[in-house]
Amino acid sequence: MADKQYKRLGCLDVQPRGGCGFQVRAETEAELMQLVATHAKQCHKINSIPPEMVYKVQAAVKTVTV
Ligand SMILES: [Zn+2]
Repeated sequence: MADKQYKRLGCLDVQPRGGCGFQVRAETEAELMQLVATHAKQCHKINSIPPEMVYKVQAAVKTVTV
Protein backbone atom coordinates (compact mmCIF):
# COMPACT_ATOMS: atom_id res chain seq x y z
CA MET A 1 0.00 0.00 0.00
CA ALA A 2 1.22 3.44 -0.88
CA ASP A 3 2.01 5.84 1.90
CA LYS A 4 -0.47 8.58 2.48
CA GLN A 5 0.58 12.01 1.36
CA TYR A 6 -0.66 15.39 2.37
CA LYS A 7 0.12 19.02 1.68
CA ARG A 8 1.49 21.22 4.39
CA LEU A 9 1.94 24.95 4.60
CA GLY A 10 2.76 27.48 7.28
CA CYS A 11 1.43 31.01 7.34
CA LEU A 12 4.99 32.27 7.79
CA ASP A 13 6.06 30.49 4.60
CA VAL A 14 3.72 32.76 2.68
CA GLN A 15 4.10 35.90 4.77
CA PRO A 16 7.54 35.98 6.42
CA ARG A 17 6.60 39.38 7.77
CA GLY A 18 3.14 39.69 9.22
CA GLY A 19 2.43 35.99 9.19
CA CYS A 20 1.58 33.94 12.26
CA GLY A 21 2.37 30.45 13.50
CA PHE A 22 -0.63 28.90 11.78
CA GLN A 23 0.04 25.60 10.04
CA VAL A 24 -2.36 24.07 7.58
CA ARG A 25 -2.55 20.49 6.42
CA ALA A 26 -4.80 19.08 3.72
CA GLU A 27 -5.03 16.15 1.35
CA THR A 28 -5.40 18.18 -1.82
CA GLU A 29 -4.25 21.58 -2.98
CA ALA A 30 -7.86 22.69 -3.47
CA GLU A 31 -8.69 21.82 0.12
CA LEU A 32 -5.53 23.56 1.30
CA MET A 33 -6.43 26.74 -0.57
CA GLN A 34 -9.83 26.72 1.11
CA LEU A 35 -8.26 26.47 4.55
CA VAL A 36 -5.74 29.17 3.69
CA ALA A 37 -8.52 31.46 2.49
CA THR A 38 -10.47 30.92 5.71
CA HIS A 39 -7.40 31.60 7.81
CA ALA A 40 -6.46 34.71 5.84
CA LYS A 41 -9.95 36.09 6.33
CA GLN A 42 -10.25 35.28 10.04
CA CYS A 43 -6.74 36.16 11.19
CA HIS A 44 -5.44 38.67 8.69
CA LYS A 45 -8.55 40.39 7.39
CA ILE A 46 -7.76 39.37 3.84
CA ASN A 47 -11.14 38.84 2.26
CA SER A 48 -9.94 37.48 -1.02
CA ILE A 49 -6.52 36.11 -1.70
CA PRO A 50 -4.70 38.08 -4.40
CA PRO A 51 -3.18 36.11 -7.30
CA GLU A 52 0.39 36.76 -6.17
CA MET A 53 -0.44 35.21 -2.80
CA VAL A 54 -1.95 32.17 -4.48
CA TYR A 55 1.33 31.84 -6.34
CA LYS A 56 3.31 32.11 -3.09
CA VAL A 57 1.10 29.49 -1.48
CA GLN A 58 1.65 27.11 -4.38
CA ALA A 59 5.39 27.70 -4.25
CA ALA A 60 5.59 27.21 -0.48
CA VAL A 61 3.44 24.09 -0.22
CA LYS A 62 5.28 20.99 0.87
CA THR A 63 4.10 17.49 0.16
CA VAL A 64 4.67 15.28 3.15
CA THR A 65 4.43 11.52 3.33
CA VAL A 66 2.92 10.10 6.48
ZN1 LIG B 1 -1.63 33.58 9.74
